[in-house]
Amino acid sequence: MKLTKTFLIRKYWKEKLTTFEIATLCKVGQRTIMRYMEKFNISRRKYGHHLIIKNHPTKNVLFKKYIIERKTQQEIADDSKCSRITIRNYLVKYNIKIRKTSKGNKKTLKYQKILTKEFLEKEYIKKGKHLYQIAKEIRFSRTTVQSMAIKHKIPLRQDNRFASGDNNPSWNGGSSFAPYPLGWTKVLKEQIKYRDSHKCQICGVPEIECNRRLHVHHIDYDKMNINLDNLTSLCQSCHMKTNYNRNYWIEYLKIEGSL
Ligand SMILES: [Zn+2]
Repeated sequence: MKLTKTFLIRKYWKEKLTTFEIATLCKVGQRTIMRYMEKFNISRRKYGHHLIIKNHPTKNVLFKKYIIERKTQQEIADDSKCSRITIRNYLVKYNIKIRKTSKGNKKTLKYQKILTKEFLEKEYIKKGKHLYQIAKEIRFSRTTVQSMAIKHKIPLRQDNRFASGDNNPSWNGGSSFAPYPLGWTKVLKEQIKYRDSHKCQICGVPEIECNRRLHVHHIDYDKMNINLDNLTSLCQSCHMKTNYNRNYWIEYLKIEGSL
C-alpha cells in the first residue's frame, strides 16, 4: 500500500479513519502517517471531532469501562479500535482519574503482601511500635501503613501523634521516629523563620543563600516541645552539627535566644 496523498485523503477524510487506523492498515507507525499528512498538507480533524463520527468512547462509556468494569486503557483501546494514548487523552479530557500504571500496581501488591493483618497486629499492637517506625522499617509511607491498618480494622491508638516517652513502650530515647505534636505545622515553622529574620541562628547565613530552606530546630531536642522559645532556625549544615555535642548546643542556643 502506497502512502500517496489521494490514499490518505480518502482514508482520513472520506472513510473517516483515524491516523491510528490508517497506520494499522498500512502496517506502519502512527507517527509515519502523521508525518506524511503533514508533508502532503492534509489538514487534521479537530480534536474530539471523531467522537461524533467514530465509535470512540463517550464519557459515560469510558467511565463504565474504566472505572466500573476496571478495564485497562489498552483493553478499552482495543474495543474502540484506537490507540491507548487516545483513550488516555480522553480520560484526561473527561477528568476521569487515571489509575496508577502497572508499576504502581506492583507496588500495591507488594505492600498488600507485607502489610498483612498478622504483621500489623504483631508490630503495632504487640510490640507497640508507631506507624512511623513500621513504615520506616519496611520502607513504605506512614500513610500506606495507616491505610492498611484501617483496612484490617486494627484499632489505631489515640496517641498516634501524641505519644511521648512515658506511655510509649517502644520509646528509644528520642529517635527520629518520634512523632511531632499536632501544633507542629508549616505555619508555625514559617513563623519561627520569620522571627529569626530567615537567617541561620548559628552561622547567620540568610535562607536565600542556602541550597535548602532553613530547618526549624528544637533546642532541647524534644520534638514535643514546640514552645516558641525552644525553636530556632538553622541552615542544614548547622543543623547537622547540632547532632553532636548536644549539651553544648542546648546551652549555646538558649543563650543565643535570650540575648
Ligand atoms: Zn548555619
